[in-house]
Amino acid sequence: MDRFQHYVDGAFEDGAAGLESLDPATGQAWAVMPMASAADVGRAVAAARRAFVSGPWPLLTASARGKLLMRLADLVQAAAPRLAALETRDTGKIIRETSAQIAYVAEYYRYYAGLADKIEGAHLPIDKPDMEVWLRREPVGVVAAIVPWNSQLFLSAVKLGPALAAGCTVVLKASEDGPAPLLEFARLVHESGFPPGVVNILTGGAEAGAALTSHPAVAHIAFTGGPGTARHILRASAENLARTSLELGGKSPFIVFADADLASAANAQVSGIFAATGQSCVAGSRLIVERSVKAEFLARLKAKAEAIRIGPPDLMTTEVGPLCTARQRARIAGLIARSLAAGARLVTGGEVPEGAGFYFPPTILDCSDAPDAPCLAEEFFGPVLSVAAFDTEAEALQMANDTAYGLASGVFTRSLTRAHRMIRGIRAGVVWVNTYRAVSPMAPFGGHGLSGHGREGGLAAALDYTTVKTVWLRTSDDPIPDPFVMR
Ligand code: NAD
Repeated sequence: MDRFQHYVDGAFEDGAAGLESLDPATGQAWAVMPMASAADVGRAVAAARRAFVSGPWPLLTASARGKLLMRLADLVQAAAPRLAALETRDTGKIIRETSAQIAYVAEYYRYYAGLADKIEGAHLPIDKPDMEVWLRREPVGVVAAIVPWNSQLFLSAVKLGPALAAGCTVVLKASEDGPAPLLEFARLVHESGFPPGVVNILTGGAEAGAALTSHPAVAHIAFTGGPGTARHILRASAENLARTSLELGGKSPFIVFADADLASAANAQVSGIFAATGQSCVAGSRLIVERSVKAEFLARLKAKAEAIRIGPPDLMTTEVGPLCTARQRARIAGLIARSLAAGARLVTGGEVPEGAGFYFPPTILDCSDAPDAPCLAEEFFGPVLSVAAFDTEAEALQMANDTAYGLASGVFTRSLTRAHRMIRGIRAGVVWVNTYRAVSPMAPFGGHGLSGHGREGGLAAALDYTTVKTVWLRTSDDPIPDPFVMR
């Protein structure tokens, strides 16, 4: 079996324990992943802290940091096929998607490489004639980055890129499920020439996560995962009062008006819910469709869902592969059962197939007559679409916002004025109009409510990893006047 290692303080090492990783396509163990103990995490944070305060890293210019990030981007691009194959093997995500996504991950590092020397301070036109006052943008310190099992390379790039560009150091905890691509990525970080301790990569579960997020030397926690874990993290951050950015789940509305290009909307909906086997935080998992076209649109979706090629994730022809874990599949099947009991109607899919691997078919649940079915409120994180129907635009908007989440949303209409009204009214961090699932390093991304807070991507994400230092410099040689009067 393959064996993977942690990367701490510039060296590769075994974890305190090992965990067999299952190939989701077969259910068989294929590799042993290290599992970090609290002590392993402590050493990694200590290394990150040392690298932040002393050694070559704080002395590097911003341009030099950018060059390191650029080298990392080039190495990621060159290694994309190898990293994609590993992610496919360890998580079951189809090779068609991992190949394209990881090649694009390099662009995130490139974007932040270019941004490193554009994080500027400011000079203030201060209201005192004998003072010069300016603001320095300084890195906040050690960043704890925690990612879930889907898209680990992508979700860590949106944390590492801006944090390193800003001059922070990082301890990145991969998920205990599917960590192989990140542990392999550590080799590229090493090869790029980052000083020891600047980037540390471990894997582990809740114990390692809790040790990391409560560590007194951690200044910022950048987390992607579920809202339940986020609550643990916020409690842990009461120890170190670290800043947090939380990218959590979603129950994103996908709204189709009768005047939309239905063929195009159907393709976007298929991509929005069945790509990545639905294991995507932005999955357009709540179809809200105008009643007059509901039957036609559902017929299109059903035909498309049933034509999807389900199979081994490492074949380029496969369109839906297995779920990442058996646990995830059982959770999805349980939520479908509860939804059917609450009145939802199965349009297609829904049955756990026979055979090896953690497969689950593309599934559509019609909840038009079951507005309280749990499938309209709870995140599946799998290939399951819940459908509701509306009659008026006001109703569509009300249904779209009837969620505790607020991550992404999609609106399909040919009416420009209606599109603008919906853009204004929808409470979500992202609105896609006549498209879905588009991302870019330049575009901020994040949510409201149970979907978390903070934004990843874009310039603002790099500023989030900085703190402002205000400098006052007196330019007068005269003695300081009355010491008892505030100036
Ligand atoms: P999860 O919350 O169970 O785990 C996420 C990470 O947190 C893992 O690395 C896990 O080991 C770690 N963790 C677990 N307990 C911890 C603790 N007590 N302290 C610190 N860390 C701890 O999430 P999951 O089930 O692996 O992933 C699915 C969730 O992630 C879904 O809700 C999905 O929507 C969300 N997600 C969000 C985004 C986004 O950008 N908004 C992207 C992808 C996934």
